[in-house]
Amino acid sequence: GLSERLQETFKKLRGKGKLTEEDVNQALREVRLALLEADVNFKVVRNFVNVVRQRATGQDVMASLTPAQQVVKIVHEELTALMGGQNARLELAPKPPTVVMLVGLQGSGKTTTVAKLANLLKKQGRRPLLVAADVYRPAAIKQLQVLGGQIDVPVFSMGEQDPVSIAGAALESTRKGGQDVVIIDTAGRLHINEELMVELERIKAGVQPHEILLVVDAMTGQDAVTVAESFHQRLVLDGVILTKLDGDTRGGAALSVRAVTGCPIKFVGIGEKLDALEPFHPNRMADRILGMGDVLTLIEKAQAAFDASQAAEIRKKLKSADFNLDDFVAQLRQFKKMGPLDQIMGMIPGMDRMTKKMKGAMQFDEKELVVAEAIINSMTPWERRNPERIDGSRRRRIARGSGTNVQDVNRLLKQFDQTRKLFKQFSDWEKGAKKGGKRK
Ligand code: GDP
Ligand code: MG
Repeated sequence: GLSERLQETFKKLRGKGKLTEEDVNQALREVRLALLEADVNFKVVRNFVNVVRQRATGQDVMASLTPAQQVVKIVHEELTALMGGQNARLELAPKPPTVVMLVGLQGSGKTTTVAKLANLLKKQGRRPLLVAADVYRPAAIKQLQVLGGQIDVPVFSMGEQDPVSIAGAALESTRKGGQDVVIIDTAGRLHINEELMVELERIKAGVQPHEILLVVDAMTGQDAVTVAESFHQRLVLDGVILTKLDGDTRGGAALSVRAVTGCPIKFVGIGEKLDALEPFHPNRMADRILGMGDVLTLIEKAQAAFDASQAAEIRKKLKSADFNLDDFVAQLRQFKKMGPLDQIMGMIPGMDRMTKKMKGAMQFDEKELVVAEAIINSMTPWERRNPERIDGSRRRRIARGSGTNVQDVNRLLKQFDQTRKLFKQFSDWEKGAKKGGKRK
C-alpha cells in the first residue's frame, strides 16, 4: 500500500545522514510513483511533488542536522495541506433548523450516512429529523425507518410523493416537533444522469439546504473524484463525506478530492455500524498515510502485543526520575514503540490516576518527535545537562541550527520540564506506596 511504500522510501532517506539534492530527487521520484499507484489524481501528484521539492531542497533543510527528518516533515505538512489543512466542520445554521441534504450515487452509503450523522449529532445534544426523500424504491424508505429506529431518531416520510413536497413538509413539521437539524436522504442512480441532477436541483431550490454534502465511496478511487466534480458543478457542494474508508487501501480519493474540487472532506465512514462516522482530520490522515501514530492501529497493536514485561519496563523507566535531555527523546520513542501510554498505563495497577497527566506530557506525535530530536541535536552537551540555564540567545542559536523557531525550542523545554516533574512525582508516589503510605 501507499503507506508501506512511503515508509520504505523515507527509511532509505533516513539511513543517509547528510543528503544531496539527488537523494531528495530520488526519494521524490519514489513518492510520485507511490502516489500514482495509490490512484491519486496525476495533476495533484505533479503539484505536490513540485512543492515538496522546492521546500525540501532549500538551504535551510539541506544544511540542517536532520535533513531526512525535515523532508519527512515537509511531506507530512504538504499532505495535510492537500487534504484541506484543517478539519472542516458541519456548519449549523444560526437559526434552527439546519437543513442538511445528502446526495450521491446509489450504493455510495447515503442512507447509512444519514443515520450515522444523526447519531453523531444526537450525541452532541442535537435533535435531528431524518427525511425519506428517496421515493423510487419502497425499500429505501423502510431502510431509513429501520435505521432511525436503531438510534431513536424520528423519520419523516410521505411514501412516494414528490421529493420536493416531502422535504418542504418535513421542514414545516419541525415547528411542532422541535427538531433542530433536518437531514434529507435523497435518491441516487448507478450513474450520474440529467434526471437525477434536475431532481436534486429542485429539492435544493425548494428547501435551500444550509449544507449539501456529497457521499462518495472511497474505494472507487478516481471515480469518486470525477463524481464529486460533476455534483459540485450542478449543486455547489459544501463538503464531501467519504465512506468505506475502512476498505480503502489506496487512499487516492481521500488525497485528491479536496485538491481537485476545492470541496473539503467533512466526515469519513469507517464501517457499517451506525457509530462508524468520524470528522475528517487532514493531519491525522497524513499521520496514517505516513504510518505515524494512527491512534486506532496503535491501540490495536498495544492490545495485541501487550504483556506484563512491558508494564514492568515502563515502571522501571518511570522510576528513573533523574534523566536529562540526552535521554528525553529516546525515552519518548521507547514509550511510543510500546503503544499508547494510557492503554498500557491503565494496565498497571494503581496507575490510572497518573495516566491522564502523563499522557498529556508524553504523547508526542511523530512530527513533534522529529522536531524535538532536531532541537536536541542542536544543543551542546552542557545545554543538554542544564536545560534550565538555556537563555534567550542560546535558544535563538538552537532554533537556527535545528531549522525550527524559538517558540518550538521554548515548547520543547517546557514539555521536558513537565515530564521531568511527572517522573519525579511518580517515583515519590512509588516510594510512598511501598512504605504503605497514602497514594496521592
Ligand atoms: P445508498 O444507496 O447510497 O443509500 O447506500 P446505503 O446507505 O444503502 O449503503 C450501501 C452499502 O454500503 C450498505 O451495505 C452499507 O452498510 C455500506 N456502507 C455504507 N457506509 C459504509 C462504510 O463507511 N464502511 C463500510 N464498510 N460499509 C459502508
Ligand atoms: Mg439509500
